[in-house]
This record gives sequence, C-alpha cells and structure tokens, in this order.
Amino acid sequence: IVRLEDVRLAFGQTEVLKGIDLAINKGDAVSIIGPSGSGKSTLLRCINALVTPQSGRITVAGTRVDQLTRESERIALRKRVGIVFQQYNLFPHLTVLENIVLAPTRILGVARQEAEKLARELLEKVRLSDKANAFPGQLSGGQQQRVAIARALAMKPELVLFDEVTSALDPETVGEVLWVIRDLIRDGMTSILVTHEMRFAEEISDTVVFTENGRIVAQGSPREIFHGNDNARIRQFVGGLS
Ligand code: ATP
Ligand code: MG
Repeated sequence: IVRLEDVRLAFGQTEVLKGIDLAINKGDAVSIIGPSGSGKSTLLRCINALVTPQSGRITVAGTRVDQLTRESERIALRKRVGIVFQQYNLFPHLTVLENIVLAPTRILGVARQEAEKLARELLEKVRLSDKANAFPGQLSGGQQQRVAIARALAMKPELVLFDEVTSALDPETVGEVLWVIRDLIRDGMTSILVTHEMRFAEEISDTVVFTENGRIVAQGSPREIFHGNDNARIRQFVGGLS
C-alpha cells in the first residue's frame, strides 16, 4: 500500500533523506526507530504529502504522492492517510464528540447523525465513551491523545501514521494510548509508527526500520532487529532505550 523508492530530500543544504527505499503491505504495522534528527518525522511527512522530496518515488494506495502538484490533490491524499502527532492539537472550545465529528461533516460531507454515530463507536474503541461531552482541557494527556486517534480514524483512513504519540505524555498514561494503538493494529489497520517505545515496537510490529542520518540502516522483523542483530550501532541504540 506504500512504496518509497530512492526518496531524497534536503532542506537547503541539509540532506535529510538520502535515498529511502521502503515497501509496506496493507495491514502491516511498521515501526521506525532511530536517533533524533535521523529523518523519521520527515519520512512520515513525505508519505502524507506535507513535504515533497526533491527526487524519488512515493506511491500510497495507487497515488504518486511525489507528483501531486496542486494543494487540493495533497489535501485529498491527507483524507486517506491519517496522522497523529506528539501534540494532539484538539480544538479546546469543542467537546470531545464535536472534535471527532468536525472533519467528517465539514470535509467529507457526512451527515451529522451518521458522523455522530461513528464518533460514538470510535470513542468506545478508544475507551472514552464516558467523555463524549467533556472538553479537552478536562482530560488527561493520554485521554486527549486517544481522542486525537479517534479523530484521525473518523476520516476512515487507509493507513495511519503515528509520530511519537506518547513522547509528551506522563508515564502513567502512556500505556492506555499504546493499548488503543495495539487494538487498531490487531484490527488490521495499516500503521506506521515512529516510536521510542522499544518493547511496544517489538510486540506489535511486522517490520522494524532503523534510520540513522537520513538512511535506512537496517530493516527486518522485530526479532531480527532487537535480538539477532550483529550491528553494534543498533544494539547500542536499542539497549540504551529499553
Ligand atoms: P526526532 O527524533 O528528534 O523527532 P527525527 O528523526 O524525526 O528526529 P526530523 O524531524 O525528520 O528528525 O529532522 C531531520 C533533520 O531535518 C533535522 O536535522 C532537522 O533539523 C531537519 N529539519 C526538519 N524539518 C525541517 C524544516 N522544515 N526545515 C529545515 N530543516 C528541517
Ligand atoms: Mg521526529
């Protein structure tokens, strides 16, 4: 469902992606790990057409993302590719339910009643049925992040990108967010996660990708990356975090 071929991107003089090749099948969960500044967020942003690489090919569900020239085309792609960030950016003046209903009704033109029904189903999925009428400010960080996930799912995306979604959370609320993501992956949602949660990555991933300095240095099964790896650099990195 996702294919990157020799993707290269520079911001000014700084090369950030130096030839990325990656293929992801429908239903797969792929974790991207690697040191700060290695290009992980930029890689996700390319897949979502938030930035355009200088060269290479990116195909997402049949669409050549690198060739989208109009903003309207990029917006259309973003309806199909959900993204959840470290900062959840909920609308503070809207209730949880309204936050989830907003995009489907305004952007997809879904009828209010139908959007609300879906929103309630999603709230159940992220275990927040009782918070439908609360405002974001009344929720913990972990609860807000789960609302952000429900909001992304309300667009019925074909895949979801998660960029360090637990990094800003109190340790005690990290688990509840990871459980929700694990449920999604078990339900077959194609997912790409940038994460520092090594145990979680090991548990849920079909493939783990290690990036460093704009390149994919290794990719393989969790077993290969976390246990069988003869690359001293990866062992050092993984060991330092887990
Ligand atoms: P982290 O783990 O800290 O989130 P990362 O692997 O996600 O790091 P990126 O955010 O992709 O790394 O950044 C890779 C490099 O690109 C960094 O050197 C960063 O400073 C640079 N960079 C990212 N976005 C921009 C931008 N919009 N303009 C200029 N440089 C940028
Ligand atoms: Mg990042």
